[in-house]
Amino acid sequence: MATATMIDGKNFAARLRTGIAAQVAQLKTSHDLTPGLAVVLVGEDPASQIYVRNKGLQAQEAGMNSFQHRLPATTTQAELLARIADLNADPAVHGILVQLPLPTQIDSHAIIEAIAVAKDVDGFHPVNAGLLATGGDAMVPCTPLGCLMLLKAYAGDLIGQRAVVLGRSNIVGKPMAALLLREHCTVTIAHSRTRDLAEECRRADILVAAVGQAQMVKGDWLKPGATVIDVGMNRIPTPDGKGRLAGDVDFASALAVAGAMTPVPGGVGPMTIACLLLNTLTAASRQHGIPVSEILPTAD
Ligand code: NDP
Repeated sequence: MATATMIDGKNFAARLRTGIAAQVAQLKTSHDLTPGLAVVLVGEDPASQIYVRNKGLQAQEAGMNSFQHRLPATTTQAELLARIADLNADPAVHGILVQLPLPTQIDSHAIIEAIAVAKDVDGFHPVNAGLLATGGDAMVPCTPLGCLMLLKAYAGDLIGQRAVVLGRSNIVGKPMAALLLREHCTVTIAHSRTRDLAEECRRADILVAAVGQAQMVKGDWLKPGATVIDVGMNRIPTPDGKGRLAGDVDFASALAVAGAMTPVPGGVGPMTIACLLLNTLTAASRQHGIPVSEILPTAD
């Protein structure tokens, strides 16, 4: 029985971070410029605290300045907007990320729209979404950007490949589809109202699953040899009560059919933070009119 090539996102992300660190070091020598990433956390959500800490640590490891802003859960929308205005005006800050979700008294759309377009390293601002859709120099959301890098390295020539994106969220599904279209794939977006999901998936040379439904995509939904990118991060119960992470793809049955696939964990997840660093480097370079050279590790 054939077994899919495992796409080692952890290793790939480590090599991407090495490439980013090298360019950061070069920016410092050539332009006396240190990219700066500001991460804003409102409240004490434990998972968000871990994400924010990791983002800060990895930014520092890449040689960047990391600015952490921790605000109480009672922060008002006006207070958060004021903080963002300060960061927009701060020349040492090239990228701003506000950790989501935000407490209910704050409208996350208003916050995202307040971030300067050029500093929007999450790529969630409507102007960046529009630039991506129309082929401009957008800041691209980190998770789909990471998926695309893996596909460029592992899926061969993307031109003309039939890609199916499962999920249509603004942070994963839609930008993923826009990126694949930009790479000249023939793109289908499927979602909860799609009539026959399995049939749509079976046509895919490239399948990106981002639905948040544990192990939904079965091996017999896949075209033999397809490249499968599993974005899903779902916690499922285990007999010892600890639970474990599972993707949106049923790993065991997919392994025998796919040509290459990402595991969960260790696939897309590590690429997301690495692409945040890449976006911060890109933002800093663009803000100073410095050309950005592509960093694209190859398959290992
Ligand atoms: P959302 O909940 O915002 O969107 C889920 C999408 O999947 C929606 O478009 C929804 O359709 C569709 N969907 C849900 N259930 C089904 C179903 N049964 N059949 C078909 N389509 C379905 O999720 P996100 O896009 O934010 O995230 C998706 C997954 O990716 C989650 O598991 C999340 O944890 C993970 N994730 C992982 C990241 C990483 O770094 N690895 C980063 C971001 C997300 P509809 O629009 O019709 O409701």
